[in-house]
Amino acid sequence: MASAAPSTATDDEPTEETALETARRQLERAAAHLNVDPGVIERLRHPNQVHRVSVPLERDDGSTAVYTGYRAQHDSVRGPYKGGLRFHPGVTEAECIGLSMWMTWKCAVMDLPFGGGKGGIVVDPKDLSTDEKERLTRRFAEELRPFIGPTKDIPAPDMGTDAQTMAWFMDAYSMQEGETTPGVVTGKPPVVGGSKGRDTAPGRSVAIIAREAIDYLGWDIEDTTVAVQGFGSVGAPAARLLDDEGATVVAVSDVNGAIYDPDGLDTRDVPTHEEEPEAVMKYNAPRKLSNEELLELDVDVLIPAAVGNVLTAENARDVQANLIVEGANGPTTSAAGEIFEAREIPVVPDILANAGGVTVSYFEWLQDLNHRSWSLERVHDELETEMLRAWTAVRERVEEHDVTWRDAAYMVALERVSEAHEHRGLWP
Ligand code: NAD
Repeated sequence: MASAAPSTATDDEPTEETALETARRQLERAAAHLNVDPGVIERLRHPNQVHRVSVPLERDDGSTAVYTGYRAQHDSVRGPYKGGLRFHPGVTEAECIGLSMWMTWKCAVMDLPFGGGKGGIVVDPKDLSTDEKERLTRRFAEELRPFIGPTKDIPAPDMGTDAQTMAWFMDAYSMQEGETTPGVVTGKPPVVGGSKGRDTAPGRSVAIIAREAIDYLGWDIEDTTVAVQGFGSVGAPAARLLDDEGATVVAVSDVNGAIYDPDGLDTRDVPTHEEEPEAVMKYNAPRKLSNEELLELDVDVLIPAAVGNVLTAENARDVQANLIVEGANGPTTSAAGEIFEAREIPVVPDILANAGGVTVSYFEWLQDLNHRSWSLERVHDELETEMLRAWTAVRERVEEHDVTWRDAAYMVALERVSEAHEHRGLWP
């Protein structure tokens, strides 16, 4: 597969530019608005380190296969590296570097004391049995062990990995270190140090940010219609929470298509990806649409929360929504972003809107380091506080500099990272 697009790009997504190219372009765009030392920008164009490891696996049939794994560590000026590990055949070194840069900005816009990391193994997890996946994960943890740790680099789940993968990873690391070390990864099952509320956190943050944006635009949420593409970990909680807030969710979709009811869907009745995979179309809605049609519905708010690169130069002019809140990573291509800017349709970017995931990962890490678990209510309260703080910082940049929401979010992030670099300096 060609280098993937900035995010969860899969084989069926167009690949306009590599994640690294996108990340560098976004860095330059943000730098142009700020008075930052060019030496710092030059440093941020490059990852601090990229580890490439060979991961041997004994297959169930007794044969041996060797997979390539990566861990890109972009910048740690504000704290240990943080970011996901994906098991996907499209994983490349350039993609890991680009996504690690992206994590630097996401952590900085949320003001979390982390830098950006990303890694993975070039493998299709569907080709592996559960036992093989476990052995591969444990060996990968061992190969990465010198470079990671609760104060160095803290991986998390990503495409093709999940809470169970993180539990194996943590167990392998802990056994080799001679002590249980839950803080080495986040996204674990709660029983081994995971946080309550981590699973729905990215969707919750999307709903919080959408609610704030609706309010900022002077709309009444009770009169606001919403379409959500993707009804998984991000889209489903986002749709349900906005429904709870009084918005009318008129359309949601999964990979098979979309359901549409202009009077509003009962989002609690639509099965999420977790409750029953790919069953959205079973809901008894007055109309069924394609995913492409969902993106072009005449709604107030569009939330693309499935995959990357769905809003492109081809369909951006046909989008009728008045506000886009990015639930997925990288759903808007750069060309589409320019069209939305010209059409004055605000696009609230992924690095702010779906950052609830990494924020509750930070809460998980704090709970692990302190050996104390938080209630779900506390997680929700603190997430709300952090999201509102980040929203306010980005909104102020929009108002002061008259820039897009994406540029404003990158400005907040770059300002924090570059100031930290200027204070720490370059040694020697
Ligand atoms: P998920 O697998 O839980 O759900 C994805 C949903 O999208 C499913 O309903 C699936 O049927 C649908 N879908 C898949 N391919 C599609 C397609 N081509 N067209 C339309 N619908 C499609 O995934 P998720 O965890 O909700 O992730 C969705 C996006 O959000 C990804 O871009 C991911 O990187 C991003 N994200 C996830 C998290 C997280 O912690 N889960 C955090 C931040 C960002």
